[in-house]
Amino acid sequence: MTSADPLGQGRGGEIAGIVAGDRFAKLRETMIAFRDAREWRQFHDPKNLAEGLSLEVAELLEIFLWKTTEESRLMVADPATIAKVREEVADCFLYCVLVADAFGIDLIDAGHEKIEINGRKYPADKSRGRREKYDAL
Ligand SMILES: [Mg+2]
Repeated sequence: MTSADPLGQGRGGEIAGIVAGDRFAKLRETMIAFRDAREWRQFHDPKNLAEGLSLEVAELLEIFLWKTTEESRLMVADPATIAKVREEVADCFLYCVLVADAFGIDLIDAGHEKIEINGRKYPADKSRGRREKYDAL
């Protein structure tokens, strides 16, 4: 794995013979078509989209409400929990796609850029095994 390939997906972001960028572009197009077929764009202003994203994150958090840290670690092997988390992370992701689209942001580029920024804030040699914020390293 290199800094140009932070997820270790191989050359060109290819995963199992499918170019990741093409998969994202198809997902984005499908989401936009879903929205437009329902004439929901009129409701998808930046404020509403950000609120929707926040609510979906809350639904993800609700899965772990009142669980201990140890219980939450065990939940990763529970099929029912996996199904719930899968649904909520998909909701969060789709809202991120819509928020990015509203601002003309390339979400994949923004994600790569943010990983690079975080890499500068949290150099591995200073942050390995530590949980302090970057300004306290
Ligand atoms: Mg949801």
